[in-house]
Amino acid sequence: MAAFKKILIANRGEIALRILRACEAMDIRTVAAHSTIDRNLKHVGMADESVCIGPAPPAQSYLNVPALIAAMEVTDAEAVHPGYGFLAENADFAERVEESGFVFIGPRAETIRLMGDKVSAINAMRQAGVPCVPGSNGPLDDDDRRSARIADEIGYPVLVKAAAGGGGRGMRVVEDPDQLLRAVNLTRQEARSAFGDDTLYMEKYLTNPRHIEIQVLADSHGNAIHLGERDCSMQRRHQKVIEEAPAPGISADERERVGRICTDACRRIGYLGAGTFEFLYEDGEFYFIEMNTRIQVEHPVTECVTGVDLIREQIRIAAGESLSLTQDEIRIQGHAVECRINAEDPEKFLPRPGEVEAFHAPGGPGIRVDSHVYDGYRIPPNYDSMIGKLIAHAESREAAMARMRVALDEMVLRGVVTNIALHQRLLRDSGFLAGGSNIHYLEKMLGR
Ligand code: ADP
Repeated sequence: MAAFKKILIANRGEIALRILRACEAMDIRTVAAHSTIDRNLKHVGMADESVCIGPAPPAQSYLNVPALIAAMEVTDAEAVHPGYGFLAENADFAERVEESGFVFIGPRAETIRLMGDKVSAINAMRQAGVPCVPGSNGPLDDDDRRSARIADEIGYPVLVKAAAGGGGRGMRVVEDPDQLLRAVNLTRQEARSAFGDDTLYMEKYLTNPRHIEIQVLADSHGNAIHLGERDCSMQRRHQKVIEEAPAPGISADERERVGRICTDACRRIGYLGAGTFEFLYEDGEFYFIEMNTRIQVEHPVTECVTGVDLIREQIRIAAGESLSLTQDEIRIQGHAVECRINAEDPEKFLPRPGEVEAFHAPGGPGIRVDSHVYDGYRIPPNYDSMIGKLIAHAESREAAMARMRVALDEMVLRGVVTNIALHQRLLRDSGFLAGGSNIHYLEKMLGR
């Protein structure tokens, strides 16, 4: 089957630009669907066509399904790339796209639905032989005594989590039985108002894990491969700040073992497209926590160490083509690290929109800058605060970190406050540089 002639990009910022670049390299025409406030975005100017889909608030534009379908109709786009966030993991949108005769670049709607509910995702994965965190094996009901019994069986501390949770929200650690019911009630209320779904479940709270995730690709011909792991343990409030590939200290055997578990699971559930299996890693064991059915922010570190263009593979898979590589052809070369650059207050971490007076991107061997920012660009207050990603790749972890330090020092973003100083601090921190820190490291460092 031939690849697409025209793709609509249903996203904004750096990922929209990244998708546009992949399309151009594949000779595919592009349509940028954008909100009113985003008409000056870099990819909008570069796209073959652009369509304004509504005002700045996401609910009226980037989440506006009828407007996006209409934009595909008027431009004759054949497929839509959702990027990450917004509608990327919305099964109803994927379904509407397919019903309207277009292609959704991502997994089938039923897979998105299965993985979007963490309870059903964990059940499906457990059945497919993926090791999971010991937990409630299903939703908690209103029976308080049953919840208390489950927590006792799991053993404290436990984590109460929302089945529909995301973005690090909707979870609460419970240290002892006295706090359990209050925590369940609070999390239920939060889940209801934040996600419109108050289904909760319980997991063992692992005290010192690392966050290690496996990138997979699966096509419609039954092929599934993994592209190794990423370590995303540098987090603040369960949000990733720095990611790297490969994960320090993970052996080729371990990578192969967990990678094979993931590809077997992909074949078992008929997975299609790019996906990520997120695990917590503690005392040499992997525990599945959730699957993301989309391209992730941190995908470039995997691209650097494998040489695979993941967006290109997503597009090829959606067009019905076979994966362009086999598992044997995947080699992990060197080390890559990514810093998420946010326009935010360095102390309170609140978003700080404003105008970028001047932007100078770093460069040199092994440096990649994925950013939509340019001189005079106004960061709108309506979306998230990430304004770009800085990625460094080199033959070793030490060399990649050295390149990243130079790049961070070289980068100029005048007029806006950013978290560059935080990255500079981390890249000079002996604990981080030693590698293999757990998910609490960054917050502890900030507390020092
Ligand atoms: P989200 O979908 O909101 O990102 P995840 O389930 O992926 O939620 O978890 C995000 C982060 O929360 C993890 O990377 C980890 O830091 C922490 N976390 C999640 N589950 C557990 C657990 N069982 N024990 C300890 N930490 C956890």
